[in-house]
Amino acid sequence: MLHKTIEEDIKKTAEALKKFEPKIQGKTFLVTGGAGFIGSWFCDVAVAMKGKVICVDNLSSGSKESISHLIGSKNFAFLEQDACNFSTKENIDYIIHMAAIASPPAYQKYPIESLDANIIGIRNMLELARASKIKGFLFTSTSEVYGNAPDHLIPTEENFYGCINSFGPRAMYDEGKRAAEAYCYSYFQKYKLPIRIARIFNTYGPRIDIKSTSQYGRALIKFVHQALHNEPITVYGDGKQTRSFCYITDQVEGLFSLLLAAGIDGEVVNIGNNRETSIHELSQKIIKIASSLSKPALHHPPHYDIKDDPRRRCPHTAKAEKLLSFTPKVPLEEGLKNVIGWYRDAVGIAP
Ligand code: UDP
Repeated sequence: MLHKTIEEDIKKTAEALKKFEPKIQGKTFLVTGGAGFIGSWFCDVAVAMKGKVICVDNLSSGSKESISHLIGSKNFAFLEQDACNFSTKENIDYIIHMAAIASPPAYQKYPIESLDANIIGIRNMLELARASKIKGFLFTSTSEVYGNAPDHLIPTEENFYGCINSFGPRAMYDEGKRAAEAYCYSYFQKYKLPIRIARIFNTYGPRIDIKSTSQYGRALIKFVHQALHNEPITVYGDGKQTRSFCYITDQVEGLFSLLLAAGIDGEVVNIGNNRETSIHELSQKIIKIASSLSKPALHHPPHYDIKDDPRRRCPHTAKAEKLLSFTPKVPLEEGLKNVIGWYRDAVGIAP
């Protein structure tokens, strides 16, 4: 059964996307990485709006649990396969290529698989797109393509070329995504495929990967886990590094808008929230909302290489506003409340 917050959020997102209903109803969406965090929400909203979804995921970082409620619905098919070699003769209207390993400790543990998902995966999907006469192709790239942007380029616009180390602990993800963008550009130029690229900034919400609470996890959900267990919050470095956190419903609304808006093939758009927050501030907010006894403890990560960890990350959102009339709506405090409530229920911690 779906958590109440998730159920309400899916309804709200479908409502916000109502103007796109004719482009969704009865259309077939191939979603790679559909059992991942953002992927599963994308599938939920597509099915809620009467689209048909083929979800392809090799479950390397996604989980069947996040889509189990959809399995059995006539508008949803799950195929446990790798996007790198997936093929189908079905009629596909839209391809959304999300399959990737997005958590830094996880892609550092699986560097080759991470490169493959981004480079071989995109090539395979673009070839499928060429064979399928699709209406739209969305590649979910990342803010990581900007790397460590200098202060005067924060918030970061889409025209910044990036400041990236190609031979370091983030290279397998960052360079994989950059190569995938270059494939998209080349297929767009050569074959005029209807490609759009979303550069996704940090996103959170209910159903964010719970495996993330382990040493392989991402900051926000790890902090929630630590706060709810009154454990020290593992803030890395001085905690002054920043991220800008976008609530999942906003992210999904932005992705659908980018895929379905008219006349913007070949565009690259930041999808994220432009409220910049330091990691220390994030830990304080989570402690407060969870009424926790935890304290932030400056911490050296044993299983995670923080070399090349970007100091600041924040999207410039003017292009999304202009092309998609899209602005994130959910304040960080409200989103954190939802995640904390959901996580309590998911792991059975009494309020
Ligand atoms: N981080 C932290 N403690 C943790 C995990 C991450 O302080 O237990 C920091 C990490 O060094 C980075 C920020 O939090 O500066 C965001 O990390 P996240 O794992 O969410 O991934 P990223 O945004 O770097 O892709």
